[in-house]
Amino acid sequence: MKTFNIEKLIRKNVLQIKAYTAARDEFQKTAPEMIYLDANENPFDNGVNRYPDPQQQDLKKVIAAFRNVSAAAITLGNGSDELLDLIFRAFCTPDQDNIITLPPTYGMYEVLAGLNAVENRTVLLTPDFQLNIPEILNRVDPNTKLLFICSPNNPTGNTFPEKAITSLLEQFEGIVVLDEAYIDFSETGSWLQKIVDYPNLIIIQTFSKAFGMAGIRLGAAYASEAITAILNKIKPPYNINTLTQEKALTLINNTKVKDKITLIKAEKENLIKVLLQINFIKKIYPSAANFILVQVDDAEKRYCQLIDKGIVVRNRNNYPLCQNCLRITIGTKEENNQLLIALQEMNRS
Ligand SMILES: *Cc1c(COP(=O)(O)O)cnc(C)c1O
Repeated sequence: MKTFNIEKLIRKNVLQIKAYTAARDEFQKTAPEMIYLDANENPFDNGVNRYPDPQQQDLKKVIAAFRNVSAAAITLGNGSDELLDLIFRAFCTPDQDNIITLPPTYGMYEVLAGLNAVENRTVLLTPDFQLNIPEILNRVDPNTKLLFICSPNNPTGNTFPEKAITSLLEQFEGIVVLDEAYIDFSETGSWLQKIVDYPNLIIIQTFSKAFGMAGIRLGAAYASEAITAILNKIKPPYNINTLTQEKALTLINNTKVKDKITLIKAEKENLIKVLLQINFIKKIYPSAANFILVQVDDAEKRYCQLIDKGIVVRNRNNYPLCQNCLRITIGTKEENNQLLIALQEMNRS
C-alpha cells in the first residue's frame, strides 16, 4: 500500500471546476415516471429521443460485476482514446508538464501529448522489448505527471513482468497509466485488482478488441475513487450514447465473446506454424495479443506485395526497434488462409 497525495497531481483548474449537471440526474433513477420537460428534447418516443444516462449506471453495474471491481472505480469513454485524452487534461498543464512513453508503443499517447501541448519524453524499450527502468526513472522530473505502459504492448505483442511494473508503480511519483487493450488475449492476468493497492494506477481497457465492439466506441478506465471522481467530473456529460450503452449491455455477458477469443488464439498458433516456413520471414515475436509482429527481409516490398494481393497489414518499419517489421492482425480462418496462400506465392517468386 502506498500513500499518495492525488490532489497534488491534479491540475488546479480541474480541481476547481464544478461539473455540468443535468437537472434530471437527481430524479431519473428514482422517479422515471415523472414528466421530463427539462432538457428540450423531442417528446415523441423513437427509442433515442431522450438523452442517455450521463453516469451509465446500468452499464457500469454490468461491467463492475464482470470485472469484479466496484462501479465507483469505473469511468467510461467514447473509446479508450477519449479516456486517454481526459487523463492528459486532468493531470497535465500545457506547456509545463511532461509525460513518459516507451516506444515502440501505441501511437495515440504521442498524438495526445502533442494535442495537449505536453512534452513527450520517450524512453526506448530494450532491444528485447523490455522496460528500461533505470532510464525511465532517470528522465522523471517534478513535472512528469504520467507514465504510459502498454501491456500486452502494441505493436510488439509482449507483456511486461509483474516485478518490473511493480517497481515503477512504487518508484514513480506520478500516475502510471497501464493500457490493457489486449489483456483478454493474454495468459498474464490483468492488474485490475491492484487499483486498491496503488492509488497512482489507472488501468485502461477497451471493448474494441477482444469484445469485438470497435464500432460502438467504448473504453473503460479503472482507478481509485478519487481519480474516478475527477475523470467523471470532466468528461463530456453524454459521452456514451444510448445505442452504445444498449449494445454493450447485450454483448458483455455473451458467451460467444469468450469462444471467439479462444478461436482467435488457436488461429494465431496455426498461423505462426506456417509463418515459420516462409523464408523471407526472419523473426516471429512472441505475442500475448491478437496480432503478431514479424520481421521480414524488406518490409516495404512485402507490404506492397500483400496490398497487390488484396491484403492490408500494418507496416511498422518506421517504428524504433521495429526495422522491417510488419504487424499482422489475426483474422478469421478464411482470411488467415488467404494470407498464407499469398505469403507462399511470394515465397516462391
Ligand atoms: C486498439 C487500442 C486501443 C483502443 O482504443 P479504442 O479507442 O478503445 O478503440 C487502446 N490502446 C491500445 C494500445 C490499442 O492498441
